[in-house]
This record gives sequence, structure tokens and C-alpha cells, in this order.
Amino acid sequence: MKVFVGKQALGESNQEPFLEHIHCDECGQIAQIMFVAFEDSKDNSELVCDLHKPEKPKPAGKKSGTKAAAKSEDTKPDDKTGEYWLTGKCAVAVYLCTGCRTPKAIVTQE
Ligand SMILES: [Zn+2]
Repeated sequence: MKVFVGKQALGESNQEPFLEHIHCDECGQIAQIMFVAFEDSKDNSELVCDLHKPEKPKPAGKKSGTKAAAKSEDTKPDDKTGEYWLTGKCAVAVYLCTGCRTPKAIVTQE
């Protein structure tokens, strides 16, 4: 993962460039870009998307070990849990609000 500080970080996104300022939804002031953490495709380190291990849904009224329970465990967990998580390499822009000092983050993924 590479870290880019300040305005030089704005283009280090997997989609549109990050904005220099965003609106703070806590106090209404402006949040200024601080840095972008960018997962490099040449880096073989662990990815943020690998950190999430969603729990598999438990079928209601089914005993584990039955044919029906085994079949439901074969489904993709993300389809049933309703949870969202990154699926690829990401870039995270971190901002700091100039009013309330609350950090904000925007994530893009490859
Ligand atoms: Zn604020």
C-alpha cells in the first residue's frame, strides 16, 4: 500500500480523482484532504478486501449436517447476509473537517 499526502494524492483513485474538499455531514463545514492510501497492484501484501470474513447464514429450522443445511452453506455468504464489503483493491481518501475535526473517508475500488 502506498500513501500520498495532500493535493498530490487527488489522482490516486481507482475511479474519478478525489476532491480536495468535501462537505462535512457532522457540522456543515469543509473537510480538507489529508492523505490517500492506495493499494498498489504490484504489491503482494494483504488487501483490505481480504480482511472481511462474513458469517454464513444459518438456515432457520434446519439441523446442521442435513443435506439441506449443507446445500445452503454452498451459497455465497454475501448474497444472504446483506452486508457490503470491498471486493477488490481499494484507494481510501482521508479528510479532516476544518470545523469539528471529525475525520472522513471516501473509498474507491478497482
Ligand atoms: Zn465537521
